[in-house]
Amino acid sequence: MLHQVGKKINNKDIALIKNTFFLQEIIDAIPNPVFLKNTEGLFVACNRAFANYTGLEKDQIVGKTFYEIVPKELADKHQEMDNRLLQGAGVQTYESKLLTADGIEKVVVFINSIYLNSDGSVAGIVGIINDITEITQICSELKTANRQFSSILDSISDGLVIFDHSLRVKYLNKEVFQIFLSVQTKKEVIGKRLEEIYPLVTDTIIHKNLKRALREQVDVHFEYFFEPLSRWYEVNIYPIQNGLLVHFRDVTERKKSEERIRLLAYYDQVTGLPNRVYFKDYVDQVIKNTASNQLMAVVLLDLDGFKLVNDTLGHDVGDELLKAVGDRLIKYVHEQSMVARMGDDEFAVLLPQINSKEDAEKIAEKILQILQPVITLEKHELYITASIGISVYPIDGMEAKKLIRKADAAMYCAKEKGRNNYQFYQSVMKYNAAQRLAMENGLRRALERQEFVLFYQPQIDVKSGKIIGAEALLRWKSPDFGMVSPLEFIPLAESTGLIVPIGRWVLRSACRQAKYWQEQGLNPVRISVNISARQLQQHDLVETIKEVLQETGLEPCWLELEITESQAMYNAQYIVNILGKLKELGIKIALDDFGTGYSSLVYLKYFPIDKMKIDKSLVQDIGSGDADNAAIVMAALAMAKSLKLKVLAEGVESKEQYRFMKEHGCDEMQGYLFSRPLPAVEFEKLLKKPLLITED
Ligand code: C2E
Ligand code: CA
Ligand code: CA
Repeated sequence: MLHQVGKKINNKDIALIKNTFFLQEIIDAIPNPVFLKNTEGLFVACNRAFANYTGLEKDQIVGKTFYEIVPKELADKHQEMDNRLLQGAGVQTYESKLLTADGIEKVVVFINSIYLNSDGSVAGIVGIINDITEITQICSELKTANRQFSSILDSISDGLVIFDHSLRVKYLNKEVFQIFLSVQTKKEVIGKRLEEIYPLVTDTIIHKNLKRALREQVDVHFEYFFEPLSRWYEVNIYPIQNGLLVHFRDVTERKKSEERIRLLAYYDQVTGLPNRVYFKDYVDQVIKNTASNQLMAVVLLDLDGFKLVNDTLGHDVGDELLKAVGDRLIKYVHEQSMVARMGDDEFAVLLPQINSKEDAEKIAEKILQILQPVITLEKHELYITASIGISVYPIDGMEAKKLIRKADAAMYCAKEKGRNNYQFYQSVMKYNAAQRLAMENGLRRALERQEFVLFYQPQIDVKSGKIIGAEALLRWKSPDFGMVSPLEFIPLAESTGLIVPIGRWVLRSACRQAKYWQEQGLNPVRISVNISARQLQQHDLVETIKEVLQETGLEPCWLELEITESQAMYNAQYIVNILGKLKELGIKIALDDFGTGYSSLVYLKYFPIDKMKIDKSLVQDIGSGDADNAAIVMAALAMAKSLKLKVLAEGVESKEQYRFMKEHGCDEMQGYLFSRPLPAVEFEKLLKKPLLITED
């Protein structure tokens, strides 16, 4: 059944056209090109739109075949489709091209079907043409755009995934593909549900957030650590029509620098331990999450004599020592609590859960113990001890700042007590919080209310048995608290800074008293005044002392200042300087509490001191069979002799101690054996007595 050029349509066809006059009217009204062909492929009718397309008149078209209108290849295609139709295949829809009268190529879709005669036989083929030129063009533009868009999306370093509403992957860019799906091909992934791709994802933050964004139609942003790659991602989920757009950004580098900043801000660079800021924050955090009936302790440790190690052996050794101490503390307190370096040679430990004060006591004792073994650094064998101050939550305070301040005050007290020991803020003060506050206020007014008194304790020259000195010891007669021991209020005065004016008062009163006794014609005695760490740091100390001496008229050679070893070592170079200036004035310097802590006799030679006072704890062990202490006392005495220092033994209570010290060459003594500290008038009476001790 080939259509041939030049064939004529027959009468039957013409009749059909006439009969279908109305049909012509109708089809002309259709905007799409429409045509009718007979079974042999000859056009029997067409509408205006079709005629317009071809640029021919309708009459010219009728009786022609496609072979006469379009190029042969296209006509062949029409022929082939027609054959299929005539052989009984259903509607034929196919794409083809048409050249309009203006020579413009149109992309069109033919929708062809057969039409029947009234007797049911096949009459021919009716075709309707759909111009899809524009759509095709738009599509191809879209495709290009899409390709460009995709390549843009592929080239960015962020990951993009589009999910449909049931979390099937609709689209993903190269980055996501590379990051997360390295084992699968893109094709395998598209159309799959997330759980099918990653069974492990179920119930992870990602999964939960995706579901949430879908359910609540809200943007969700979060950061996610992707374990398999050990990288951090910032994830943004945006609901879009029928699904979700997920945007991933690798923020590992940012996270790292944040972490570095955090480390710098929160950690000590030398020991790697949390620093003061972190410790304080942490304690406050723990307090927030702790019931107020749960006890907790802040333990502050200050290494005895660390400064000297730093100054004499160098900062590298100093740093190593700090590390070693940090390591020991960490090893001991381990996971149950936090160890921090608070600055210089100060460490802090938080004991977050203690049941009683005794618990903290045990731990403090243990800390002193674990510090004991020698630390060897670059051939130096270092013995380190610490002074420990402890404050207890909630008794001593409800916030980190207070607890640290109080532990600090207690630590000062531990230093004063002779180091290598611990003190509770509570036991230091013995009073409850309200009373302590009252005491602090009381202390502030004590000076103007003239509630302070000085007691004097004689110092005996061993050779002559005569009183050659007096140590001025402060007493506070408080109208509210009675007679308060300096052990209780000196740490408080230290931590509040009140020690500075109080210390000045002590100095002036002691000098005035000594001058007064001299004026009374009594045997002149040297007056010893205790100087606290805080006072030593006072820049105008030398000036103040000069002024006091001038004001009272006491000659400098009658004044002796007592400083403790730990104070001296705190800021060694500075202290050596200050002491040098004081010595130039002619004032004597005594090293107090010798032998209680990090006693390195070798360091003594760096300090311009005249005398060392052997601590009462060493003296009191004499006669108790403690051979070690006796050995230390002997070594100290020998050492002092070689450095041409005078030695005074403190706290001599028994004749046995007196004899031992005397035998080993001790120059001076002080203690209950001779006299307790006395009010000035009582002391005056002693001065009039010839001898305080007789040999037997
Ligand atoms: P310290 O400088 O070691 O003073 C010696 C302490 O030992 C005095 O205690 C004294 O009473 C006591 N003592 C004397 N002989 C004996 C003895 O034979 N046996 C015993 N067991 N103890 C004896 P005090 O007066 O309670 O003073 C305690 C501490 O308070 C002093 O220790 C000193 O560190 C400090 N302190 C006292 N007055 C002042 C002061 O004016 N300024 C400063 N900054 N601190 C002071
Ligand atoms: Ca003293
Ligand atoms: Ca002492």
